[in-house]
Amino acid sequence: MGRDLTCKELVELVTGYLDGSVRGRRRRRFEAHIAACDGCTRHLLQMEATIRVTGSLTEEQMTEEQKAVLLTAFRGWSTS
Ligand SMILES: [Zn+2]
Repeated sequence: MGRDLTCKELVELVTGYLDGSVRGRRRRRFEAHIAACDGCTRHLLQMEATIRVTGSLTEEQMTEEQKAVLLTAFRGWSTS
């Protein structure tokens, strides 16, 4: 039994999940967390929408500022 992903770990895996680079057991843990966590579900949907608009969004292409914005937004959701 692996430990569950934290919300912060999930945020860091979202781009890899969407581009298919997160596979196997990690992918199943990601999906299990999404199924149980409204905040992360919203984050995933927002990232999917962003990728549709921009064409692609990889971890490498994200600036530190963009990552900080996402993590800040995420913290806002989790305290509501
Ligand atoms: Zn979560």
